[in-house]
Amino acid sequence: MIKCVTICPLGSVEDEILSPISTCIEEKCGLTCRFSPQMGTPKYAYDKGRLQYNAKLILRRLITQVSRNTFKFMGVTQVDLFIPILKYVFGVAQMEGSCSVISTHRLRPQFYDQPPNQALFLERVQKTALHELGHCFGLTHCRNRHCVMYSSTRIEDTDSKKIDFCPSCKDLFQWQREKECNSQ
Ligand SMILES: [Zn+2]
Ligand SMILES: [Zn+2]
Repeated sequence: MIKCVTICPLGSVEDEILSPISTCIEEKCGLTCRFSPQMGTPKYAYDKGRLQYNAKLILRRLITQVSRNTFKFMGVTQVDLFIPILKYVFGVAQMEGSCSVISTHRLRPQFYDQPPNQALFLERVQKTALHELGHCFGLTHCRNRHCVMYSSTRIEDTDSKKIDFCPSCKDLFQWQREKECNSQ
């Protein structure tokens, strides 16, 4: 069985967003991606008080819904995500687990009252996806601010990263990937 990363839109997400994610994961991580049918907007996670979606509830739902033999599963949504202790998150992941979810909501320059810039937007999407996938392979936050595993608390953090792991995170990622791909 080929172990691949499944990318799943949660609600409508354009192909122009989904394909750059798979290209980036295949290039930087050496893993094959496939797309699964849309799962619908995660209404169950909506918080009426915050007008945002609780990323922890989405993650919990994904963990129970995806099959046990799923290798890595990434939900992609346009809705705004939060976790209870933070105002917002760009994404969350199960540490050393299968599931992650990322949001495009705060990645568009227009969100910050800046002119649209599709290239910048897609770079941010790729960095966010790579970062959360890194967590699924057990990588923790990196202190190198150019590394994709550097923690993004503001969009400026995302913009100062490269769309890649630093050499030590890359080594660790490859080591974990080999370990997981060789186990059954
Ligand atoms: Zn992180
Ligand atoms: Zn690093």
